[in-house]
Formats: sequence, C-alpha cells, structure tokens
Amino acid sequence: MLKDAFGRVATDLRVSLTDKCNLRCTYCMPPEGLDWLPNAQLLTADEIVRLVRIGVERLGITEVRYTGGEPLLRRELVDIVARTAALAPRPQISLTTNGIGLARLAEPLAAAGLDRVNVSLDTLEPETFKRLAHRDRFADVIEGLGAAERAGLRPVKVNAVLMRDVNDHEAVSLLRFCLDHGYELRFIEQMPLDAQHGWDRATMITADEILDLLSAAFDLSPDDLEERGSAPAERFLVDGGPARVGVIGSVTRPFCGACDRVRLTADGQIRNCLFAREESDLKAALRSGATDDELAARWVAAVAGKRAGHGIDDPSFLQPARPMSAIGG
Ligand code: SAM
Ligand code: SF4
Repeated sequence: MLKDAFGRVATDLRVSLTDKCNLRCTYCMPPEGLDWLPNAQLLTADEIVRLVRIGVERLGITEVRYTGGEPLLRRELVDIVARTAALAPRPQISLTTNGIGLARLAEPLAAAGLDRVNVSLDTLEPETFKRLAHRDRFADVIEGLGAAERAGLRPVKVNAVLMRDVNDHEAVSLLRFCLDHGYELRFIEQMPLDAQHGWDRATMITADEILDLLSAAFDLSPDDLEERGSAPAERFLVDGGPARVGVIGSVTRPFCGACDRVRLTADGQIRNCLFAREESDLKAALRSGATDDELAARWVAAVAGKRAGHGIDDPSFLQPARPMSAIGG
C-alpha cells in the first residue's frame, strides 16, 4: 500500500503523458509556451504501462487518470489506455483533456477502455477563449465534448477556472450550458501553479464567490446523499437536483486531509502532491535495470514522505519549481 505518515492511502494515480500543449491557458503557461522536455526524457509507452502495472498490481492503485500537458497529443494514448484496461485488477481509467482532438479520438478511446473524461472549458465566448487560451480553438472543444458524450464517456465532466475580469461573468452561463447538455460542471479555484508565477491570492475568485455568483440564478443545496470521501469537489444539487455542480476550493477549502492521490510526471518522477517540493526519480531507476520490487519500494518511500498539507496559505509557501503542465494536473 501507498501509505503516508498521516494514515492517508494513495489509490488514485495521475499520470502526465506529455508536458506539451496546444493551448496556452493564462493560468497555466505563458503565450510563448515553455521549454518542452526533450523526447528522450519522456517515459516511453512501455515504461508508463510498466509503472502503472506496478501501481495496480502491487501498490493498491485503483484509479488511473491520464493528463498532461495535453494527453491527446500523445500518439500512443489509445494503446496506453488499452494496455491499462487489460491490467488486473482493472483500474478505473479517466482522462483530463482540453478536448482538442477528442472529436476524432473519443470513440477509439472508449473502445480501448477509457471510462470517463474531464474536459476543461472556461468560457462559452469564442473571443474570451482566444484571450484566455491564446488559441482560436473554442469550436474544437465544443465538438470534443459532444463526441465524448456520444461515445458514452459519461458523465462527461467539465472543469472551469474563473478569473477576475476575464470570465467571472460566465459562472451562470457555464452552468446553464452544462445542465442543458447533461455535463457535470466543476469550478476549480485558481492555484499558484502557472509557469509565469502570476497567481495572486488577493484577486483569485474564491469558492465562496463562485457559490454567490451561482446562487443568484440557481438554488444550491449541499448534496448530502453523496459521500464526499476523497473527492476534492464539494457538490451541490442544482434547483433540487438531480443535476449537480461541484466547487473545488483547493486554496480556500483545502481537502489535503482526505487526499488519495499520487502523481507520475511525464519524465518519470513520483510526486506525492501537486505542491510537493521533492520528487522521486523512478525513470533513472527503471532505466538502470531496477526490478519491479525495487521500483515499488521507491514508490512506497516517496508516498511515505507526503506532507500534511499544501500550505498555500502559509507565509512560507513556495510555488513548486515545475508548472502544472509539467506535473500533470
Ligand atoms: N490539458 C489538459 C486540460 O487542460 O484539461 C490536462 C492538463 S491541465 C494542467 C488539468 C487541469 O488543470 C485543467 O482542468 C486546468 O484547467 C487545470 N489547471 C491548470 N492550471 C491551473 C491553475 N493554475 N489553477 C487551477 N487549475 C488549473
Ligand atoms: Fe494546456 Fe491544459 Fe495547461 Fe490549458 S490547462 S495550457 S489546456 S495543459
């Protein structure tokens, strides 16, 4: 088991398949992009599947989420999903994506064994999309969402980050859009994970504000029936349900005490937290001939050292050296 000193057990593995992306969301990376990892440093598909297999077979991983960067840019994605679905015990397999390319890939991914998808969509205005993501790809994302629904990757979840004076006027319209299409919307508080270090606690849109904005148009009541468990989203019934909306207050309502996640970066580092300052290098071990037992032992040790919380509100907080796109969101 992957257990830390506070008794938390990691069962949810987030795997970044690439740090590259075809968007430039302002809360994530600068318009000019980043210095991408050289290909030789990326784990190969075989290496990824081997590590996922060790996690699933020996370490109690029950859920695998592929992310990035933009995971749809990884050419072997369908193959990686199929090989993950063939593991025993079979983990739940999900994908976090910006949706570009999903119109083409939703069907093959579902056929390969993908269970669910989270698509990031912060705005319903093509112009705002261009301003926010520095690319004119709004229509591709909408097409991708529809394709995911038709391919049966349900419930299709939508992730939205609100930013002041950019898209905070769209909280209600985003929820209405998702209700109309049967998508489950989750708002995520903006976190200090952008490569430019432009995050500002004083101007971020908080979970409280998001709930206020939504309450102007909807009746929200806590979804008591659903056990929250380790889920980061606080869920609310919309107008009595059954439709729901989630709010992930990573900064103002941290859920570190119930965290069950562990992350594998595209270059083979285990991170026990998005905000961890240390990583454990499985790639070097793997490429120097480590056995499955040795890799599992390193992984166990990496999780054992997990801190109690991310400490964003602590004056001594330091943003991790790597941006979200390189860690795997
Ligand atoms: N490219 C894919 C996507 O955008 O869905 C997967 C990777 S992205 C890093 C994963 C999620 O992290 C997205 O939903 C994105 O909106 C979110 N994200 C990125 N930077 C963030 C930040 N600074 N604060 C909060 N969420 C962020
Ligand atoms: Fe790309 Fe996702 Fe980052 Fe946006 S949030 S720039 S889509 S990795």
